[in-house]
Amino acid sequence: MQCSIDTYDFAGKKAIVRVDFNVPLNEKFEITDDTRIRAAMPTLKKVLAEGGALIIMSHLGRPKGVTEKFSLKHIIGRVSELLGVEVKFADDCQTAQEACAALKPGEALLLENLRFYAEEEGKPRGLAEDCTDEEKKAAKAAVKESQKGFVKTLAGYADCYINDAFGTAHRAHGSTALIAKYFPNDKMFGYLMEGEIKAIDNVLKNAQHPFTAVIGGSKVSSKLAVLESMLERVDNLIIGGGMGYTFVKAQGGQIGNSLHEDDLMPNALEILKKAQEKGVNIYVSQDTLCADAFSEEANTQICPTDAIPEGWEGVDAGPQSLATWKEVLMNSKTILWNGPVGVFEIAKFAKGTLEIAQDLADATAAGAYTLVGGGDSVAAVTQMGYAKKVSYVSTGGGAMLEALEGKELPGIAAVRE
Ligand code: AMP
Repeated sequence: MQCSIDTYDFAGKKAIVRVDFNVPLNEKFEITDDTRIRAAMPTLKKVLAEGGALIIMSHLGRPKGVTEKFSLKHIIGRVSELLGVEVKFADDCQTAQEACAALKPGEALLLENLRFYAEEEGKPRGLAEDCTDEEKKAAKAAVKESQKGFVKTLAGYADCYINDAFGTAHRAHGSTALIAKYFPNDKMFGYLMEGEIKAIDNVLKNAQHPFTAVIGGSKVSSKLAVLESMLERVDNLIIGGGMGYTFVKAQGGQIGNSLHEDDLMPNALEILKKAQEKGVNIYVSQDTLCADAFSEEANTQICPTDAIPEGWEGVDAGPQSLATWKEVLMNSKTILWNGPVGVFEIAKFAKGTLEIAQDLADATAAGAYTLVGGGDSVAAVTQMGYAKKVSYVSTGGGAMLEALEGKELPGIAAVRE
């Protein structure tokens, strides 16, 4: 049974909380962006304020074993500062029994990087390159077996479990999913997770219509499942960015040197056919900003997207497309945006992405629900200063992408089960 963080009685209890403190560090091990730490604070502070004690667990980077560079000790100072208590540290997440038992209400302990153990991910490490399939299978079975003890040890530290790590919710790891079964009546989501789940539900389950999805980014191959999932849900599908040229070429257009995937052209045609059958309006750009180089110094011109000259490539949506898309967006009650509609990293090619951000801000002000989730669109709205002007900006790239594909995320399912 799933509990609610708002009504759970934390007084005198120890809560083990999975957070995503996978923050970037510089070569001096200083945090260069503490957004993820700050994002978990409402949940952590709630437990302490209610008289509970905290056992905080996270991964950092992709270590292949104990690695100084990926030690969570580097972030204790910042976590303590933000939490307002001196956070203790257990330098091995598997031998913290005594330290956890000694925790008093209002105290907090951070466990060392969970991924120092292969058991967290449940994948074997250090296999010889030439090992046989049989050996691989045996190694996998062995780590799965020892994973049970790893998870049980973590679970033994606490009275209740909170998952507030949306960034890893798509992984069926020890601390993100498997641990939940040890807390059948004492498991819940933290506030960050709750916010993300509500945002997902707002577009996948409770969308107000017209519902428009703007799907951009570089490649059709990485967004195919999202496009297919959206076809089942939206009224309008705007396809922008590099992936749009595969759709144009598949229909016989001349796209010059623009990014495209020949092998995905049949999929693009299938999407167009399905959209027609379902009555979904598809908007691929009519005109394109073309460049003769991938740089700030490039020469540019506006061309019809199906008549881009050789030697030129599409790098951003053109003015006609942006005007059409604006009208569609301003008439929408729900908007999902995933992926930039141009090479926004180069200022000269960022106008389209900036205009979409502005359209979403305007639509939000006019009462639409707007979610920016997954991929580089999150970086784009944040960089461009629009994060507070849309309804919700997701913190989880891969997790949000999988949720939008319609997949059930293991980290969410484990708490709900
Ligand atoms: P994704 O990670 O799939 O969301 O793709 C994001 C990337 O797509 C960004 O780095 C953009 O620069 C890139 N992108 C968007 N439009 C284009 C385009 N027309 N040509 C090449 N790359 C593009």
